[in-house]
Amino acid sequence: MGSNCFLRQEATSEIISNVTDFCSECYETIRPSQVIFYDMSNYRFICDTCQESIDKCLDKDCESLNRKNSLLFD
Ligand SMILES: [Zn+2]
Repeated sequence: MGSNCFLRQEATSEIISNVTDFCSECYETIRPSQVIFYDMSNYRFICDTCQESIDKCLDKDCESLNRKNSLLFD
């Protein structure tokens, strides 16, 4: 299963020291060479666990299904 909404990459020391050293979703510490994902719709890095759970709530256009539903019933 692959998602177009996230860019899979390995955490380098550059990312950790220049961008972020924790997951933007669960705030877990990111360690060097850990697999992380760049969330292209929210411009943030998240861990693989969060990527998996968030991916289930996105449609193919990377839009949140929850958000879409709440708009429908607004
Ligand atoms: Zn996380």
